[in-house]
Amino acid sequence: MQIASWVVRQPGAAMSHEIREETAHPGEVIVQVAACGVCHTDLGFYYEGVPTRHPFPLTLGHEISGHVVEAGEGAERWVGRNVIVPAVLPCGDCEACRSGRGPICPKQIFPGNDVHGGFGTHVRVPARGLCPVPDLGGHDLNPSGVDLAALAVIADAVSTPYQAIIRSGLEPGDLAVFVGVGGVGGFGVQIAHALGAAVIALDVDDGRLEQMATHGADVTLNPARVDFKQLRRLVREAADSRRIPTWRTKIFETSGSPAGQTTAFGLLGHGGYLSLVGYTPKAVEVRLSNLMAFDAVAQGNWGCLPELYPAVVDLVLQGKVALTPFIERRPMASINEAFAQLHAGGVSRRLVLIPES
Ligand SMILES: [Zn+2]
Ligand SMILES: [Zn+2]
Repeated sequence: MQIASWVVRQPGAAMSHEIREETAHPGEVIVQVAACGVCHTDLGFYYEGVPTRHPFPLTLGHEISGHVVEAGEGAERWVGRNVIVPAVLPCGDCEACRSGRGPICPKQIFPGNDVHGGFGTHVRVPARGLCPVPDLGGHDLNPSGVDLAALAVIADAVSTPYQAIIRSGLEPGDLAVFVGVGGVGGFGVQIAHALGAAVIALDVDDGRLEQMATHGADVTLNPARVDFKQLRRLVREAADSRRIPTWRTKIFETSGSPAGQTTAFGLLGHGGYLSLVGYTPKAVEVRLSNLMAFDAVAQGNWGCLPELYPAVVDLVLQGKVALTPFIERRPMASINEAFAQLHAGGVSRRLVLIPES
Protein backbone atom coordinates (compact mmCIF):
# COMPACT_ATOMS: atom_id res chain seq x y z
CA MET A 1 0.00 0.00 0.00
CA GLN A 2 1.00 3.64 -0.41
CA ILE A 3 2.42 5.41 2.61
CA ALA A 4 3.03 9.14 2.81
CA SER A 5 5.64 10.20 5.36
CA TRP A 6 8.03 12.96 6.36
CA VAL A 7 11.55 11.99 5.36
CA VAL A 8 14.83 13.31 6.75
CA ARG A 9 17.27 13.42 3.85
CA GLN A 10 19.81 15.59 5.59
CA PRO A 11 19.91 16.25 9.33
CA GLY A 12 18.60 19.71 10.18
CA ALA A 13 17.23 20.33 6.67
CA ALA A 14 13.46 20.50 6.17
CA MET A 15 11.83 17.05 6.10
CA SER A 16 10.18 16.30 2.77
CA HIS A 17 6.75 14.77 2.29
CA GLU A 18 7.23 11.60 0.24
CA ILE A 19 5.20 8.61 -0.90
CA ARG A 20 6.52 5.05 -0.85
CA GLU A 21 5.08 1.59 -1.37
CA GLU A 22 5.09 -0.86 1.57
CA THR A 23 3.83 -4.43 2.05
CA ALA A 24 3.66 -6.24 5.38
CA HIS A 25 6.13 -9.14 5.36
CA PRO A 26 5.56 -12.33 7.40
CA GLY A 27 5.21 -11.43 11.08
CA GLU A 28 4.71 -7.75 10.31
CA VAL A 29 1.78 -5.35 10.26
CA ILE A 30 1.04 -1.96 8.78
CA VAL A 31 -0.38 0.44 11.31
CA GLN A 32 -2.41 3.45 10.27
CA VAL A 33 -0.95 6.13 12.53
CA ALA A 34 -3.42 7.84 14.89
CA ALA A 35 -0.64 9.98 16.35
CA CYS A 36 3.11 10.07 16.80
CA GLY A 37 4.76 11.97 19.64
CA VAL A 38 7.95 13.98 19.19
CA CYS A 39 10.76 12.89 21.50
CA HIS A 40 14.03 14.47 22.62
CA THR A 41 15.71 11.52 20.86
CA ASP A 42 14.23 12.62 17.50
CA LEU A 43 15.78 16.04 18.06
CA GLY A 44 19.10 14.33 18.86
CA PHE A 45 18.99 12.48 15.51
CA TYR A 46 17.88 15.56 13.60
CA TYR A 47 19.96 18.33 15.14
CA GLU A 48 22.76 16.92 17.28
CA GLY A 49 24.38 14.41 14.96
CA VAL A 50 23.29 11.36 17.01
CA PRO A 51 23.45 8.64 14.33
CA THR A 52 20.34 6.62 13.49
CA ARG A 53 21.06 2.90 13.09
CA HIS A 54 19.55 3.00 9.59
CA PRO A 55 21.15 5.89 7.71
CA PHE A 56 19.17 8.82 6.27
CA PRO A 57 16.96 9.14 4.25
CA LEU A 58 14.69 7.96 7.07
CA THR A 59 11.32 8.84 8.58
CA LEU A 60 11.71 9.54 12.32
CA GLY A 61 9.12 8.98 15.07
CA HIS A 62 8.85 6.19 17.65
CA GLU A 63 5.91 7.19 19.84
CA ILE A 64 3.10 5.66 17.86
CA SER A 65 -0.49 4.63 18.38
CA GLY A 66 -2.79 3.53 15.59
CA HIS A 67 -4.96 0.97 13.91
CA VAL A 68 -3.69 -2.18 12.21
CA VAL A 69 -4.83 -2.18 8.56
CA GLU A 70 -2.68 -4.86 6.94
CA ALA A 71 -0.83 -7.94 8.19
CA GLY A 72 1.73 -10.34 6.79
CA GLU A 73 1.63 -14.10 7.21
CA GLY A 74 1.19 -15.15 10.85
CA ALA A 75 0.09 -11.69 12.04
CA GLU A 76 -3.45 -11.76 10.61
CA ARG A 77 -5.08 -11.68 14.07
CA TRP A 78 -3.92 -8.07 14.51
CA VAL A 79 -5.93 -6.64 11.62
CA GLY A 80 -8.61 -4.25 12.86
CA ARG A 81 -7.06 -3.78 16.29
CA ASN A 82 -6.00 -0.53 17.93
CA VAL A 83 -2.43 -0.71 19.18
CA ILE A 84 0.44 1.13 20.78
CA VAL A 85 3.74 0.41 19.02
CA PRO A 86 6.48 0.13 21.67
CA ALA A 87 9.51 2.29 20.85
CA VAL A 88 11.74 -0.73 21.38
CA LEU A 89 10.55 -4.00 19.83
CA PRO A 90 12.92 -6.83 20.90
CA CYS A 91 13.03 -9.93 18.66
CA GLY A 92 11.96 -12.20 21.53
CA ASP A 93 14.10 -15.11 20.30
CA CYS A 94 17.77 -14.27 20.78
CA GLU A 95 19.93 -15.11 23.78
CA ALA A 96 19.50 -11.61 25.25
CA CYS A 97 15.71 -11.77 24.90
CA ARG A 98 15.54 -15.26 26.37
CA SER A 99 17.57 -13.98 29.35
CA GLY A 100 15.07 -11.17 29.97
CA ARG A 101 17.40 -8.57 28.47
CA GLY A 102 15.09 -7.43 25.67
CA PRO A 103 16.24 -3.78 25.85
CA ILE A 104 19.69 -4.84 24.57
CA CYS A 105 18.35 -7.28 21.94
CA PRO A 106 20.76 -6.89 19.00
CA LYS A 107 17.88 -7.55 16.58
CA GLN A 108 15.46 -5.07 18.16
CA ILE A 109 13.41 -2.79 15.95
CA PHE A 110 13.17 0.84 16.99
CA PRO A 111 10.88 2.68 14.54
CA GLY A 112 12.40 5.90 13.28
CA ASN A 113 15.89 4.51 13.98
CA ASP A 114 16.16 0.99 12.49
CA VAL A 115 13.20 1.35 10.10
CA HIS A 116 10.92 4.16 8.89
CA GLY A 117 9.07 5.63 11.87
CA GLY A 118 5.71 7.10 12.70
CA PHE A 119 5.79 10.58 11.18
CA GLY A 120 3.54 9.55 8.32
CA THR A 121 0.15 8.09 7.49
CA HIS A 122 1.27 4.50 8.20
CA VAL A 123 4.20 2.56 9.60
CA ARG A 124 5.35 -1.02 8.95
CA VAL A 125 6.49 -2.80 12.13
CA PRO A 126 6.88 -6.32 13.54
CA ALA A 127 3.66 -7.57 15.17
CA ARG A 128 5.55 -9.18 18.04
CA GLY A 129 5.45 -6.86 21.03
CA LEU A 130 2.56 -4.66 19.90
CA CYS A 131 0.42 -3.53 22.82
CA PRO A 132 -3.30 -4.01 22.13
CA VAL A 133 -5.42 -1.07 23.30
CA PRO A 134 -8.57 -2.07 25.17
CA ASP A 135 -11.96 -0.65 24.24
CA LEU A 136 -11.84 3.07 25.05
CA GLY A 137 -15.59 3.62 24.83
CA GLY A 138 -17.64 4.38 27.92
CA HIS A 139 -16.69 6.08 31.15
CA ASP A 140 -16.51 2.84 33.13
CA LEU A 141 -13.80 1.51 30.88
CA ASN A 142 -11.97 4.77 30.47
CA PRO A 143 -12.66 7.26 33.26
CA SER A 144 -9.71 9.37 32.10
CA GLY A 145 -11.46 9.95 28.74
CA VAL A 146 -8.27 9.52 26.68
CA ASP A 147 -8.45 8.65 23.00
CA LEU A 148 -6.18 6.51 20.82
CA ALA A 149 -4.11 9.53 19.70
CA ALA A 150 -3.30 10.56 23.30
CA LEU A 151 -2.10 7.01 24.03
CA ALA A 152 0.78 7.50 21.55
CA VAL A 153 2.92 9.01 24.32
CA ILE A 154 2.76 5.73 26.22
CA ALA A 155 5.12 4.29 23.59
CA ASP A 156 8.06 6.10 25.14
CA ALA A 157 7.40 9.09 27.41
CA VAL A 158 5.26 7.07 29.84
CA SER A 159 6.57 3.52 29.46
CA THR A 160 10.27 4.38 29.67
CA PRO A 161 10.10 5.95 33.15
CA TYR A 162 7.77 3.10 34.12
CA GLN A 163 10.43 0.49 33.34
CA ALA A 164 13.07 2.62 35.08
CA ILE A 165 10.86 2.80 38.18
CA ILE A 166 10.10 -0.94 38.18
CA ARG A 167 13.82 -1.72 37.82
CA SER A 168 14.70 0.60 40.71
CA GLY A 169 12.58 -1.61 42.97
CA LEU A 170 10.66 1.44 44.15
CA GLU A 171 8.29 0.51 46.97
CA PRO A 172 5.48 2.35 48.73
CA GLY A 173 7.02 4.72 51.26
CA ASP A 174 10.25 5.16 49.29
CA LEU A 175 11.35 8.55 47.99
CA ALA A 176 11.55 9.14 44.21
CA VAL A 177 13.41 12.22 42.97
CA PHE A 178 12.94 13.27 39.34
CA VAL A 179 15.54 15.60 37.88
CA GLY A 180 13.70 17.22 34.96
CA VAL A 181 9.92 16.94 34.74
CA GLY A 182 9.33 17.65 31.06
CA GLY A 183 8.01 15.00 28.64
CA VAL A 184 9.37 11.91 30.42
CA GLY A 185 9.91 13.02 34.01
CA GLY A 186 6.41 14.48 34.38
CA PHE A 187 4.96 11.03 33.70
CA GLY A 188 7.58 9.46 35.98
CA VAL A 189 6.39 11.66 38.86
CA GLN A 190 2.81 10.50 38.36
CA ILE A 191 3.78 6.82 38.11
CA ALA A 192 5.96 6.92 41.25
CA HIS A 193 3.14 8.68 43.13
CA ALA A 194 0.63 6.08 41.88
CA LEU A 195 2.93 3.34 43.20
CA GLY A 196 2.90 4.90 46.66
CA ALA A 197 6.23 6.72 46.81
CA ALA A 198 6.86 10.23 48.11
CA VAL A 199 8.00 12.30 45.13
CA ILE A 200 10.30 15.30 44.68
CA ALA A 201 10.22 17.08 41.31
CA LEU A 202 13.17 19.20 40.20
CA ASP A 203 13.05 21.46 37.17
CA VAL A 204 14.34 24.84 36.08
CA ASP A 205 10.87 25.69 34.72
CA ASP A 206 8.53 26.99 37.47
CA GLY A 207 5.46 26.39 35.30
CA ARG A 208 6.26 22.67 35.06
CA LEU A 209 6.82 22.49 38.81
CA GLU A 210 3.46 24.10 39.49
CA GLN A 211 1.78 21.53 37.26
CA MET A 212 3.58 18.63 38.99
CA ALA A 213 2.50 19.93 42.41
CA THR A 214 -1.06 19.00 41.43
CA HIS A 215 -0.01 15.75 39.70
CA GLY A 216 1.82 13.71 42.29
CA ALA A 217 4.83 15.76 43.44
CA ASP A 218 4.99 16.22 47.23
CA VAL A 219 7.88 18.68 46.98
CA THR A 220 9.00 20.82 44.04
CA LEU A 221 12.41 22.48 43.79
CA ASN A 222 13.98 24.72 41.17
CA PRO A 223 17.75 24.08 40.95
CA ALA A 224 18.20 27.42 39.15
CA ARG A 225 17.07 29.29 42.27
CA VAL A 226 19.33 27.68 44.89
CA ASP A 227 22.96 26.58 44.91
CA PHE A 228 23.67 22.87 44.80
CA LYS A 229 24.52 22.50 48.51
CA GLN A 230 21.24 24.11 49.44
CA LEU A 231 19.38 21.90 46.97
CA ARG A 232 20.97 18.78 48.43
CA ARG A 233 20.05 19.94 51.94
CA LEU A 234 16.42 20.58 50.91
CA VAL A 235 16.15 17.10 49.39
CA ARG A 236 17.64 15.58 52.58
CA GLU A 237 15.22 17.54 54.76
CA ALA A 238 12.26 16.35 52.70
CA ALA A 239 13.50 12.76 53.16
CA ASP A 240 14.26 13.16 56.87
CA SER A 241 10.89 14.70 57.63
CA ARG A 242 9.33 11.54 56.17
CA ARG A 243 11.89 9.28 57.88
CA ILE A 244 13.09 7.95 54.55
CA PRO A 245 16.76 6.87 54.58
CA THR A 246 19.10 7.53 51.64
CA TRP A 247 19.01 3.85 50.71
CA ARG A 248 15.30 4.13 50.05
CA THR A 249 15.82 7.17 47.83
CA LYS A 250 15.68 6.51 44.08
CA ILE A 251 16.88 9.29 41.83
CA PHE A 252 15.75 9.45 38.19
CA GLU A 253 17.64 11.63 35.72
CA THR A 254 14.94 12.53 33.22
CA SER A 255 16.22 15.85 31.88
CA GLY A 256 18.78 14.47 29.44
CA SER A 257 20.98 17.50 30.11
CA PRO A 258 24.55 17.70 31.43
CA ALA A 259 23.41 19.96 34.30
CA GLY A 260 20.66 17.51 35.21
CA GLN A 261 23.06 14.57 35.17
CA THR A 262 25.52 16.41 37.43
CA THR A 263 22.71 17.31 39.84
CA ALA A 264 21.27 13.79 39.87
CA PHE A 265 24.65 12.20 40.56
CA GLY A 266 25.38 14.76 43.26
CA LEU A 267 22.18 13.88 45.11
CA LEU A 268 23.21 10.25 45.63
CA GLY A 269 23.62 9.25 49.26
CA HIS A 270 24.57 6.06 51.10
CA GLY A 271 23.01 3.02 49.44
CA GLY A 272 21.36 5.34 46.93
CA TYR A 273 20.12 4.45 43.47
CA LEU A 274 20.42 6.53 40.31
CA SER A 275 18.58 5.72 37.09
CA LEU A 276 19.67 7.41 33.88
CA VAL A 277 16.59 7.81 31.73
CA GLY A 278 17.38 11.01 29.77
CA TYR A 279 20.06 11.20 27.10
CA THR A 280 22.62 13.79 26.14
CA PRO A 281 25.59 13.18 23.82
CA LYS A 282 27.65 15.55 26.00
CA ALA A 283 30.06 14.27 28.64
CA VAL A 284 29.88 15.34 32.27
CA GLU A 285 32.49 15.19 35.01
CA VAL A 286 31.47 13.31 38.15
CA ARG A 287 33.38 11.66 40.99
CA LEU A 288 32.57 8.06 40.11
CA SER A 289 34.15 6.89 43.36
CA ASN A 290 31.05 8.15 45.16
CA LEU A 291 29.37 4.96 43.97
CA MET A 292 32.03 2.97 45.81
CA ALA A 293 32.09 5.14 48.92
CA PHE A 294 28.28 5.16 49.17
CA ASP A 295 27.78 1.54 48.10
CA ALA A 296 25.41 3.11 45.58
CA VAL A 297 24.06 1.95 42.24
CA ALA A 298 23.78 3.81 38.92
CA GLN A 299 21.84 2.13 36.13
CA GLY A 300 20.86 3.13 32.63
CA ASN A 301 17.48 2.41 31.09
CA TRP A 302 16.70 1.81 27.42
CA GLY A 303 13.01 1.88 26.53
CA CYS A 304 10.51 -0.48 28.11
CA LEU A 305 9.87 -4.18 27.55
CA PRO A 306 6.63 -4.79 25.63
CA GLU A 307 5.41 -7.13 28.41
CA LEU A 308 5.30 -4.16 30.83
CA TYR A 309 3.06 -2.06 28.56
CA PRO A 310 -0.34 -3.39 29.67
CA ALA A 311 0.34 -2.25 33.26
CA VAL A 312 1.18 1.24 31.95
CA VAL A 313 -2.01 1.36 29.89
CA ASP A 314 -3.96 0.36 33.03
CA LEU A 315 -2.46 3.24 35.03
CA VAL A 316 -3.52 5.65 32.29
CA LEU A 317 -7.02 4.26 31.79
CA GLN A 318 -7.61 4.24 35.56
CA GLY A 319 -6.77 7.95 35.56
CA LYS A 320 -3.70 7.48 37.78
CA VAL A 321 -1.44 8.95 35.11
CA ALA A 322 -2.91 11.96 33.33
CA LEU A 323 -1.93 12.47 29.69
CA THR A 324 -4.13 15.30 28.44
CA PRO A 325 -2.65 18.21 30.47
CA PHE A 326 0.85 17.17 29.37
CA ILE A 327 0.39 16.85 25.63
CA GLU A 328 -0.31 19.24 22.78
CA ARG A 329 -1.75 18.03 19.48
CA ARG A 330 -0.56 19.48 16.18
CA PRO A 331 -1.21 18.56 12.57
CA MET A 332 1.60 16.39 11.23
CA ALA A 333 1.98 18.76 8.26
CA SER A 334 3.48 21.27 10.73
CA ILE A 335 6.30 18.85 11.61
CA ASN A 336 9.14 21.11 10.44
CA GLU A 337 7.85 24.05 12.50
CA ALA A 338 7.25 21.74 15.47
CA PHE A 339 10.82 20.44 15.43
CA ALA A 340 12.23 23.98 15.12
CA GLN A 341 10.12 25.21 17.99
CA LEU A 342 11.06 22.28 20.23
CA HIS A 343 14.71 22.76 19.38
CA ALA A 344 14.45 26.43 20.34
CA GLY A 345 12.95 25.35 23.67
CA GLY A 346 9.64 27.09 23.14
CA VAL A 347 7.26 24.21 23.96
CA SER A 348 6.48 22.91 27.42
CA ARG A 349 4.18 20.00 26.57
CA ARG A 350 4.85 16.77 24.72
CA LEU A 351 3.97 17.42 21.08
CA VAL A 352 1.81 14.77 19.45
CA LEU A 353 1.50 14.98 15.67
CA ILE A 354 -1.73 13.88 14.04
CA PRO A 355 -1.61 12.80 10.37
CA GLU A 356 -4.11 14.41 8.02
CA SER A 357 -6.89 11.99 7.22
ZN1 LIG B 1 11.95 8.70 22.64
ZN1 LIG C 1 16.28 -10.48 20.78
